[in-house]
Amino acid sequence: MSFQVSINGELFAKEDAKISVYDHGLLYGDGVFEGMRAYGGKVFKLDAHLERLYESARAIALPIPITAAEMGEEVYRTLRVNRLEDAYIRLVVTRGSGSLGLDPNRCSHPQVIVITDHIALYPPARYRDGMEIVTASTMRNHPAALSPRIKSLNYLNNILAKLEGLRAGCDEALMLNHKGEVAECTGDNIFIVKRGELFTPPTDAGILEGITRNAVIELAHRLEIPVVEKTLVRHDVYVADECFLTGSAAEVISVTKVDDRVIGAGVPGPITQRLSEAFKKWVNEG
Ligand code: PMP
Repeated sequence: MSFQVSINGELFAKEDAKISVYDHGLLYGDGVFEGMRAYGGKVFKLDAHLERLYESARAIALPIPITAAEMGEEVYRTLRVNRLEDAYIRLVVTRGSGSLGLDPNRCSHPQVIVITDHIALYPPARYRDGMEIVTASTMRNHPAALSPRIKSLNYLNNILAKLEGLRAGCDEALMLNHKGEVAECTGDNIFIVKRGELFTPPTDAGILEGITRNAVIELAHRLEIPVVEKTLVRHDVYVADECFLTGSAAEVISVTKVDDRVIGAGVPGPITQRLSEAFKKWVNEG
């Protein structure tokens, strides 16, 4: 089935959903986006995603022509039109079409795109057995150059790291920040477990503050698993008892090997499994 895509509130068949080649989203990566999930017809953490989208837009001085509430309604409308209950949702706001120069003021209208579709980021075996990752030599964007908190259409930094991961036969790659500390993966946040405690890098390590990351922290509190946002280095990951990644597309996925070091027992650990089960229950039961 060909899903309908919403562009500025108008619906187009996927094949006909097009924007201008003069759009600065294409020409310069000038725009922002969100990736979120619907489970049983309900968008998980919609408000948090919309808040992050509008904050990303504010950070690049991009006025989104509709309110967050209207954006939320458009998301649900697009899901309904496509009869999708369980879906991946991609929101994109571009600067709009302009002239062949950087000046954003010469762009006409921001384009608001809502794509609803299915996603299968990693094969089921990875969820069962855990995944292997490697550290990329490409460091995460320096926050003073381009804040990783902005979910912008400029993903080259992460794509370069992803290429390194793929070249090493891995689906994900670990990115360090300019200080050599653990930041995050190319499209996922990272957690480790050590002696029953959960650790994840703080936002000022230069990461995207993941909505799934925050949901897992919330879950850990509920399950009375101690959780600490702490600066981590690769050594901490190598000697961890467990490691897992979080993301809207990935959900919670165990990591059992990092840079050829087996993590813990080399299988998804008990705390990872508990959190993963609790996360599934939460998204499916509300
Ligand atoms: N880090 C990066 C760089 C990402 O692109 C993403 C989203 N794919 C995440 C972390 C996870 O964020 P979220 O849980 O909000 O999807």
